[in-house]
Amino acid sequence: MSITSERIKGKIPCEESGIEVKKSICAICDPTCHCGMDLYVKDGKIIKVEGMAEHQFSRGTLCAKGAATRQYVYSPDRIKTPLRRVGKKGDGEFEEITWEEAYQVITDKLNEAKKTLGPESCCFYVGYSKGMRPYVQRLSILYGSPHYCTESSTCFKGMMQAFKLVYGAGGGPDVRNTNCLLVWSANPMHTNTPVAEALFNKKDAGMKLIVVDPRLTPTASLADIHLQLRPGTDGALALGMANVILSESLFDKEFVDKFTHGFEEYSKYVKEFTPQKAQELTGVPAEKIIAAARLYATTKPAAFMPSSSPVVHHTNGVQNYRAAMALIGLTGNFDVPGGNVSSKPSYLEIPCGFETNADAFNLPKPMSELPPRMGHKEVPVWCEMYDEAQAMFLPDYIDDGKIKTLVGFGMNYRMWSNTKKIEESLKKLDFFVNLDLFMTDTCKYADIVLPVCSSVERSEFKSYPGGFVIHTKPAINPLFKSISDYDFIFELAKRLKIEDDLLQSGYDACIDYILEPSGMTADEVKKHPGGMVAGSFKPPQFKKYEQHGFKTPSGKMELVSGILAKHKGHGLDALPVYNPPGQSREASPEMQKEYPFIINTGSRLPMFLHTRTFRLPWTNSLRPNPAADLCPEDAAQLGIKQGDSIKIITPIGEISVLANISDMVLKGVVFMYHGYSQADVNSLIDSKYYDPISGYPGFKSFLGKIVAGE
Ligand code: SF4
Repeated sequence: MSITSERIKGKIPCEESGIEVKKSICAICDPTCHCGMDLYVKDGKIIKVEGMAEHQFSRGTLCAKGAATRQYVYSPDRIKTPLRRVGKKGDGEFEEITWEEAYQVITDKLNEAKKTLGPESCCFYVGYSKGMRPYVQRLSILYGSPHYCTESSTCFKGMMQAFKLVYGAGGGPDVRNTNCLLVWSANPMHTNTPVAEALFNKKDAGMKLIVVDPRLTPTASLADIHLQLRPGTDGALALGMANVILSESLFDKEFVDKFTHGFEEYSKYVKEFTPQKAQELTGVPAEKIIAAARLYATTKPAAFMPSSSPVVHHTNGVQNYRAAMALIGLTGNFDVPGGNVSSKPSYLEIPCGFETNADAFNLPKPMSELPPRMGHKEVPVWCEMYDEAQAMFLPDYIDDGKIKTLVGFGMNYRMWSNTKKIEESLKKLDFFVNLDLFMTDTCKYADIVLPVCSSVERSEFKSYPGGFVIHTKPAINPLFKSISDYDFIFELAKRLKIEDDLLQSGYDACIDYILEPSGMTADEVKKHPGGMVAGSFKPPQFKKYEQHGFKTPSGKMELVSGILAKHKGHGLDALPVYNPPGQSREASPEMQKEYPFIINTGSRLPMFLHTRTFRLPWTNSLRPNPAADLCPEDAAQLGIKQGDSIKIITPIGEISVLANISDMVLKGVVFMYHGYSQADVNSLIDSKYYDPISGYPGFKSFLGKIVAGE
């Protein structure tokens, strides 16, 4: 064998082998990760994928999904050309058309909708990838539609709502400098590889770890104390911990005296939640609640790691999280090194330590100049706090004839509750275009389906905590006739004659505008293929509230919320009260007799991100068939063995899945991964079952029964 062929076989990058290493990022999951990748490219094809060592955020790590990038990019299921529907909606029959024909139809439909029904009859939705958000939001607003909405209608923003209601801003955990980490239902081992690495390192160095999670996750298995609570009882647990902290005077009295609003009312309420009562409500032994409260309150500094979704996927989710997040300030851990540090987001909601024009870019005019957006009546607090619509009400708005046109970027309707309802609603649209890599179930309802490329086939700007930025070049050309979503957005803006210099000038011009206050330009960042640190990066400042107060109505940390107080008429309480989940033994005892199991869905498996990696042989092989996790005791009582067929039944439907008997799950709880076409667990949840503050469906605590057999 010649040296050249040996080098090719060994995938050694050099001139003789013709293999080049190109820098890119993985965007299979969300912008809190977007790990750096070294792509080994030969003859325009990726032959090997590795984590990028110099990427200062991901530091060479890739999860199972990112490691399967070649299968993702070269999947035979990729949409190859623009398509026009020829069959019935939902049937999946399409004919090929050219990009020119597609643009013509879309432009005509959007212009016609604007002229005849008004721009508010059109909804712009961004699912995955999330990088398109700022550009679609600007396009939607300048087109005149208030109905810009995103996948954050079920993820992240509900958690951030709780943070903002208490502190007026978010506050990320300073994991690298903490001595005690309270992880509240996050499992970075399955969701965020870079954070998992930091957690492992700190744990090895002696950091104390408390994990609140209904499941014995890999993160929980490392914990000094695991508080394995009944799903949806987080508020009762947090109030029980607060009871210990207050009654044992473990709180930061000086902070509380100077910087909190409503402490008296709150502390009176907290008295009700003795550890014994918290035990009854949560199922967590009182002694564990006491031990966790003491450990968190007395180890300095201590940080609180929230999760984007699990705690807010309950009908009482935001209130529960308010109660949990109150522990940060009570113990003097807000905005201190090693605690939870509040920093202004720079881009895509990530605090990176440099200034940008992102807010001004996203919101070219105030929402008050546009008609009311989806959710303004149903979840007024959401619409008061966010400049985007609550997408969970899309089916209702379509059914009522208020929305007739839908422009979707990676839209996946299986993220909604009662998916049968949204399937029917999508059929009623006048026009629907969806962009995606794959022919998803959602695409089958579209009139036009457009092929877009993956992150490695396009150029993408990304920024990270610590001031690290990267602006990639395509590692390979877009496959088939796919294009970058970004290119589509700017071309559409041109054809719609949107009067906006930035949208008319393209992606890099927009990045230049967004980055202007940071002193960087798109070109400058591109010159550093492995990324760079912004010259204007400033490390976080601490205790900013001492000078500027909190961005809440009272200017203080709010234990009694000024925003929620205004919405008492909507049935909301200004205190972080604990009400049991809407379907539970306490709130619906009659229903609970017939449907005794708590069904919990929406958590991540390490190899899946919703349905994005379902098609890949490597990831799919780890759980090829829909399967529900239940504990050995429940399985034995029902006469169910590993791999048996079972049915999950709720008042609105049933699905058949395989039983996976697992010690991870509590007795009385069944965990089911979401998104499967053949067993869609979200089809079992009533669309009216949601949190009145966020509009988030109660994905993680609804009642059902389990029956053995198909
Ligand atoms: S899918 Fe995995 S590799 Fe890709 S960005 Fe997310 S954590 Fe990183």
